[in-house]
Amino acid sequence: MPTTSAPPLPVYLDYAATTPVDERVAAVMQRYLTVDQLFANPASRSHMLGWQAEQAVEQARRQVADLINADPREIVWTSGATEADNLALTGFMRANRERGMHLVTSTIEHKAVVDTARALESEGFEVTWLTPGPDGRVTPEQLERALRDDTTLVSLMAVNNELGTVNDLKALADVAHGFGAAFHTDAAQAVGRIELDVAAQQVDLMSLSAHKAYGPKGIGALYVKRHPDIRVEALIHGGGHERGMRSGTLPTHQIAGMGEAFALMGEVGEADRPHIDALKARFLAGLAAIGGVHVNSPAEHGVSSIVNVAFEGADGEALLMALRDLAVSTGSACNSASVEPSYVLLGIGVPRALAHSSLRFSFGRFTTEHEIDHALGLIRHALGGLRTPQASN
Ligand SMILES: *Cc1c(COP(=O)(O)O)cnc(C)c1O
Repeated sequence: MPTTSAPPLPVYLDYAATTPVDERVAAVMQRYLTVDQLFANPASRSHMLGWQAEQAVEQARRQVADLINADPREIVWTSGATEADNLALTGFMRANRERGMHLVTSTIEHKAVVDTARALESEGFEVTWLTPGPDGRVTPEQLERALRDDTTLVSLMAVNNELGTVNDLKALADVAHGFGAAFHTDAAQAVGRIELDVAAQQVDLMSLSAHKAYGPKGIGALYVKRHPDIRVEALIHGGGHERGMRSGTLPTHQIAGMGEAFALMGEVGEADRPHIDALKARFLAGLAAIGGVHVNSPAEHGVSSIVNVAFEGADGEALLMALRDLAVSTGSACNSASVEPSYVLLGIGVPRALAHSSLRFSFGRFTTEHEIDHALGLIRHALGGLRTPQASN
């Protein structure tokens, strides 16, 4: 073993937290920054440089719209999916308060939805929190029971970021519409993992993020269906950009990067999938051979890119410490007093002890079989040190 070389980089199995920017995306972003490039303000109407930057923004808008089968005029740029979720929930509920004050969502949504819904509760709106089944899915029947005459919006995610669970968007949207409510979905984890088609799936509002799809951090979009009933009130006021829904100078390089990332996803996303399916199968087989492993991700209706597993007899934080050469995540939240296990795992009924022993592994375009095998070796080794033999009584 050479002892002088730099330590190897950790194996990155945290694609659900963020993805690396694809080289092809980074190359496009470079064109919109420096003095000899298209750095101008896309809102500058008085010169050629502004128009050219605007053209770049509009091309990206088309690229994003194309991937979800929307019209470019239905795409509103935001700083990410967090802001898109805030705009969808708060913007829609406020704009429609005359029609009703009731929102329906689930307990295992991303914090960007959960915390926004909580903030709406403190503003006087009423929220019904659906508890999904053990697979993380909300059923149309369950949704139907929660809907009321004064429900104006239903928000349920496309793909859960901790479990990989895929909701049936079309079936849920149909139920919402049957009660006259609009349907929002957070699709940050869904881009490239499942087919997204706002027309076929009857989605009215969809949150998107670039950095979960090989684009840059700090840029996202909200799809807002062009329909008189689908209106959102701005949260950020200023120059009236984005048809008054979201003011602020548009970051051309970020937007061009998101456009390129989404266009690329349209081209190679389908080729990514069998690759990632194979990685998941290999990983699960390796885990089964290690033993004492409980898979929290659903056997059916889940994406291959996310595998959430509990390791019996091993504390998740201790395991994470022992797995320093592996970049993975726990869904736990630390506060000063304790480590709280993931609210998503608790939300689908995983017992506390197992939730404490759980890690999320997530794969992507650049993950290799070699990395999976290496990770399995590290896990086997770490567990050997942590799983102390149990006393027999
Ligand atoms: C990452 C993520 C977000 C937040 O997206 P940002 O662009 O980082 O703000 C929201 N929802 C889900 C499901 C996510 O995975």
